[in-house]
Amino acid sequence: MYRQAAWDEPVIFKLGSKGRRGHSLPEAEDEVRRAVGNVDKLLPENMRRMQKPNLPELSEVEVTRHFIRLSEMNYGIDSGLYPLGSCTMKYNPKINEFLASLPTLNLVHPYQDESTVQGILEILYKLERWLGEITGTFEVCLHPAAGAHGEFLGTLLMHACLKQNGECDKRTEVIVPDSAHGTNPASAAMAGFKVIFVPSAADGCIDLEALKTVASEKTAGLMLTNPNTVGIFEKDIEEIAKVIHEVGGLLYYDGANLNPLLGKARPGDMGFDIVHINIHKTFGTPHGGGGPGAGPVGVSRELAQFLPVPRVAFDGKRYRLDYDKPHSIGKIRSFQGNVAVLLRAYVYMLSMGFEGLKEAAEVSVLNANYVMKKLGNVKGLTLPYDSGKPRKHECVISAKTLKEDTGVSALHVAKRLLDFGLHAPTIYFPLIVDEALMIEPTETFEKEELDRFVEALRRTCEEAYTNPQNVLTAPHNTAVSRLDEVKASHPRTMTLSWRMHLKKEETS
Ligand SMILES: *Cc1c(COP(=O)(O)O)cnc(C)c1O
Repeated sequence: MYRQAAWDEPVIFKLGSKGRRGHSLPEAEDEVRRAVGNVDKLLPENMRRMQKPNLPELSEVEVTRHFIRLSEMNYGIDSGLYPLGSCTMKYNPKINEFLASLPTLNLVHPYQDESTVQGILEILYKLERWLGEITGTFEVCLHPAAGAHGEFLGTLLMHACLKQNGECDKRTEVIVPDSAHGTNPASAAMAGFKVIFVPSAADGCIDLEALKTVASEKTAGLMLTNPNTVGIFEKDIEEIAKVIHEVGGLLYYDGANLNPLLGKARPGDMGFDIVHINIHKTFGTPHGGGGPGAGPVGVSRELAQFLPVPRVAFDGKRYRLDYDKPHSIGKIRSFQGNVAVLLRAYVYMLSMGFEGLKEAAEVSVLNANYVMKKLGNVKGLTLPYDSGKPRKHECVISAKTLKEDTGVSALHVAKRLLDFGLHAPTIYFPLIVDEALMIEPTETFEKEELDRFVEALRRTCEEAYTNPQNVLTAPHNTAVSRLDEVKASHPRTMTLSWRMHLKKEETS
């Protein structure tokens, strides 16, 4: 068992006292004054702040203790297993963080003269080519800031292609399987397409016959995750590609589940025309809590002309930014995207090498299947879409029987796991599985950690039968217990800044 620290930690504004300082360095202003004269004259009058900002004033130890205490009431990727499904919450090697924070890389300004940023341009140029190689696509653009942003770019590219062919009015539909992530239909809708859902078949793959009936001359494209969100490889992918291409549509690859394919199979070879990569899921850069991420998009030769500008170009001697792309859809993100995230991916790929990436894919599949097999014996849990075949990097388990038998749902199981010092898996996704627990152990955990996770789940299910009340009221050992799920994700009820807090105090 596990007990999380539970400090009564106030917000930082309530700590410290007036005039207290966290350092004993000379006044920065004195230094500047000596170097450049009167600082007040440096800034135009209308740009000067007349009032000092209302900042907390604390000593160094107060600041350190405040944030250490807060971190003790939190759970992170460095605390233990983080089995969120389809999210690939893998270990983030510290060397990535170290190299990406080198001042020579992260103090570079996007408006610097090209001749002074040859190094970073080379890194971006190479990363585009490596990602092209890994995904089997002709050209990659690094700009999108997340997977969902990559999807949006992808659907805009579909649109650009239709426009060039004069087919905008004719091809208005994008097909999405019912196991898809919610961002797929959202992206298609944002680009102006009508979303057509196709069901999954009994084996968890897309229903090929159903696909054939909805594919038509109205189809702009199909968005597909492979392996899909149930963790199953779409075995009919070549046939699927044929169906879509024969009606004149494009095939879009949602790359959230690329981890188990690294060095093994390439979406481009399967017939995908547009591919996004969730850099923060597959290439060892941190994520969670909303970012920052990166969602590069790779495309076929025909679609490369539409990619956003500027493209990083290389003439054999110098790297430069190329804006001369008359068919480009324009910009979807400032400069080259989230470069610090891309840098981490570059370091990750460089340090792993091709063989290392392949091994990561293999171990991620091994770990997911190990967990799946072990959980197969747990009373109350079942494996949906089971045709005896292995899963790829994740498995989706159903707690439907458990709920029917005991009243303990997937949500309750997830909450109880927190008492074991574990992060919960994804729950209630994909939507096609009742009481879904979607588990992705990734390649980064030892067998002992996986066993600990399986044991915690087994004990939780056992407890559901013997002492359901204890599971229904979990978690018991965390800093905060049950949160109001709706309120917690509703921006209108959240107090996001000290200023908002003061306003609230004033009005209440
Ligand atoms: C995470 C995820 C996305 C969206 O990616 P973000 O980087 O979070 O925007 C899309 N599809 C699937 C299957 C995912 O798991």
